[in-house]
Amino acid sequence: MITENLGAKKKQLDWSNLDFNYRKTDYSFVSNWKNGAWDAGELTADHTITLSECAGIFHYCQEVFEGLKAYTTRDGDIVCFRPDLNARRMADSAERLVMPPYPQDRFVDAVEQVVRANAAWVPPFGSGATLYVRPLMIATGDVIGVKPADEYQFRILVTPVGPYFKGGAKPIRLCVARYDRAAPHGTGNIKAGLNYAMSLKSGMDAHAAGFAENLYLDSQSRTYVEETGGANVLFVDRSGKLVVPVSHTDSILPSITRRSLVQVARDLDVDVEERPVTWDEVASGAFVECGLCGTAAVISPVGEIHDDKDVVTFEEGHECMGPVMTRLRETLTGIQDGTVEDVHGWVHKIC
Ligand SMILES: *Cc1c(COP(=O)(O)O)cnc(C)c1O
Repeated sequence: MITENLGAKKKQLDWSNLDFNYRKTDYSFVSNWKNGAWDAGELTADHTITLSECAGIFHYCQEVFEGLKAYTTRDGDIVCFRPDLNARRMADSAERLVMPPYPQDRFVDAVEQVVRANAAWVPPFGSGATLYVRPLMIATGDVIGVKPADEYQFRILVTPVGPYFKGGAKPIRLCVARYDRAAPHGTGNIKAGLNYAMSLKSGMDAHAAGFAENLYLDSQSRTYVEETGGANVLFVDRSGKLVVPVSHTDSILPSITRRSLVQVARDLDVDVEERPVTWDEVASGAFVECGLCGTAAVISPVGEIHDDKDVVTFEEGHECMGPVMTRLRETLTGIQDGTVEDVHGWVHKIC
């Protein structure tokens, strides 16, 4: 059994120039559900999965995942950020797809084990790089008639990834998607691969047209702003208030970064409004800053959003990230790095 890899020397990688591609590390964590229970789980050096051709994942797409990062703080600790929220969200995602939730305390323990075992792969402080942690769960049991499988695998892979912004955060351009992302009361609020499969085409179309991402509107009325394919969206209005879109139809993914930024804004005495936001309101020029938020970038500034008729520009965040987004991002990354006091106890020390 592998328990410690702490003494291992750091891998010799060009940390600041890593990209966002999969690179095999030493260990993954794996646990299997069989006969109605999860086994103890273990670290494995085998980075492949061998499955029956009839496994449920291949037919009816029972798959959910998570994403968080482990990194080195200023003091040299290896930590991650609010892993309890990833544990809970993954359990919620699993329940929605009738999969057995992985126990939340064991989820956090498994993250700790796999990060500790791969300590040599955790980028050093100041490199901007992180060890991306990707928990996933798939149906492994045979299924031919439509029903939930009776066997599952929970796995965590880790892979070092480079800084999200190389050479500064340049505001990106979005386009309003022609396709929908999530049905009303569907699966838009869970982290499931199926939500990504159906957004790939619109993502590729957007890239081909020169946009970084799609902005999805609510699919029921095409009136309200929801989010992009993989990040929540935030706005700042002319009074400096942070405006956070809420969905009537529960089709926005509950981003941990977004929830943390809302708390940070309140701590900084920035006004916050969480409410439905119409596309018309955005198009009318009500907002002066816009950003996307998620684990990888924390906040990516958005400079423009295009639809068929309009080009909406965000005055205070068009050339570079605007002042409110900058302040929120610097505070949250400061908490993560250990340079700003972590009053809420969000940073989770691993080793
Ligand atoms: C993962 C994800 C996000 C970002 O969530 P974080 O917890 O902040 O990383 C936003 N939208 C979608 C659709 C996602 O899958």
